[in-house]
Amino acid sequence: MKENKKEYIIITTCPFCGHAHEVAVNEDDFWDWDDGKNAQDAFPYLTPDEREMLISGICPTCWENTFGSDEDEEEDPEDWEDDVDECGYNPYMGCYDFDC
Ligand SMILES: [Zn+2]
Repeated sequence: MKENKKEYIIITTCPFCGHAHEVAVNEDDFWDWDDGKNAQDAFPYLTPDEREMLISGICPTCWENTFGSDEDEEEDPEDWEDDVDECGYNPYMGCYDFDC
């Protein structure tokens, strides 16, 4: 069983907000990672957020703000009615009156 002391504190600085964050890992794991080991394999006990802070320094808040899903851009199906032309042409569904 591998020791899991997490005594090695890495300070990362977020490039977006400039805040420093601490991530605690095992020192051996850090050197494995430094040697080119995948962060996911080297630090299986860290959360994805913590691993991201080690790799890029980006804190979870800025990650969410920069790359997070923007739900405001979703189209509201209720609005379709307003876009239907008088002849029945619906830009989303196609024309359903073949005589127009
Ligand atoms: Zn940040």
